[in-house]
Amino acid sequence: MQNGIKSLFCDKQEEECGVFGTFAPRQNAAEIAFSGLLALQHRGQESAGIAVSEGNTVHIHKDMGLVTQVFSKERLASLKGHIASGHVRYSTTGSSLLANAQPLLVRYRQGYLALSHNGNLLNAMNIREELEQKGHLFQTSIDSEVIASLIAQLDKGDVEKAIEGCMDRIKGSYSLVITTGDKLFGVRDPNGFRPLSIGKLPEGGYVLASETCGLDAVGAEFVDDVQPGEIVRIDARGLSRRKACKQGEKALCVFEFIYFARPDSDIDSSNVHLVRRRFGAQLAREHPVEADLIVPVPDSGISAAMGYAHEAGMTYSEGLIKNRYIGRTFIQPNQAMRESSIKIKLNPIRKVLAGKKVVVIDDSIVRGTTSGKIVRMLREAGAREVHMRITSPPVRYPCHFGIDTQTSAELIGHSHTPEEISKVIGADSLNYLSMEGMYKASNLDIDEHCSACFDGDYPLPVDTVEHNKLALE
Ligand code: SF4
Repeated sequence: MQNGIKSLFCDKQEEECGVFGTFAPRQNAAEIAFSGLLALQHRGQESAGIAVSEGNTVHIHKDMGLVTQVFSKERLASLKGHIASGHVRYSTTGSSLLANAQPLLVRYRQGYLALSHNGNLLNAMNIREELEQKGHLFQTSIDSEVIASLIAQLDKGDVEKAIEGCMDRIKGSYSLVITTGDKLFGVRDPNGFRPLSIGKLPEGGYVLASETCGLDAVGAEFVDDVQPGEIVRIDARGLSRRKACKQGEKALCVFEFIYFARPDSDIDSSNVHLVRRRFGAQLAREHPVEADLIVPVPDSGISAAMGYAHEAGMTYSEGLIKNRYIGRTFIQPNQAMRESSIKIKLNPIRKVLAGKKVVVIDDSIVRGTTSGKIVRMLREAGAREVHMRITSPPVRYPCHFGIDTQTSAELIGHSHTPEEISKVIGADSLNYLSMEGMYKASNLDIDEHCSACFDGDYPLPVDTVEHNKLALE
């Protein structure tokens, strides 16, 4: 995080990245990728990039900022070709710098490849040291470069085989989109931590996207999810797919449903909005409260608040309005503004809240700072009582799989009971959705999801050292 730039959602599990790829014969791949990345913008707002290839030529443009800030019409027009890889980034390893923006372009003896990565490697440091000892020079401080370099090193004329060899070596979470001069690849780690979907374009060709909302944005028809441990290859002969390594314990991140993904996306055939509604309904059954209004913290609390209100037979109302035009990060020039940062993002509707007993629905509490500000904001707007209900269990453990998580010590749920947190944030009451309730109500299979930030049961062995996103710097 750069000086003076602070995330508005510093009290949330920070998102990771969005990846998009297309193989679109006789079409403008850059324009398709641009539209796809716009739909995935919520997954990363620090930088954006597109690499477009065709035969021996590759064009790439990436910069800091939102997709619309990075790409002008002229810039897009200069990216000619029918195969594209695109990326929106939130930094989970390495600083928020242009050098760390993706896609990563690697030129090597067999040609070139452009790689976009969503996830986090657990053994990047070891592999990087090994490659450095062989004389390899690294340009960035991100783990994704380790993947690109390893593939380049292993490629003896068959890039797919090299990707497979790379998958044997790397550990952790990765959903990858890789392009070469004539091929597009989609790759998902053996546990399937991060989503990746395949779509078919109406005018021929295919797309790959972190979420199905990225397919919808370009008019693509959903084909399937890339399966854990699978390599999907798309080229002039069409689409082929194969298991490149044995599937591990399936461990899709449950936080995709709680907070990260867009409600209009389907992940593993489950619609995110409907899952969140069921979380909310279950929360109402587990922790009812007599109140006048159910108010969501927008946007991720909206679907769950609807579910809570419907189940409880209570009134749902917008009570906090989110400014949707400032993105996730902004420059805070002084301490006074830093203190009031939440007011830039959220504003209460006083005439709705005044004199009311309010149940406020949020998706999670990480540090507790934002929750405290929201409770204060609701009280200042005249709410008589503020009861907070959270649509996930307490976050107690750090994530090692692609989320910029805090250390355990920073997680308020690690050291405080819900009653204590309620006092810290100044609420009249605070309750969380239970783990059993979360899975039972949503029909998600607990054995196929990672919920390690709630119970510490990591699907892969993780270092005892806390995750350090600047480890490769
Ligand atoms: S620990 Fe697991 S459930 Fe929690 S954010 Fe990371 S991948 Fe998702």
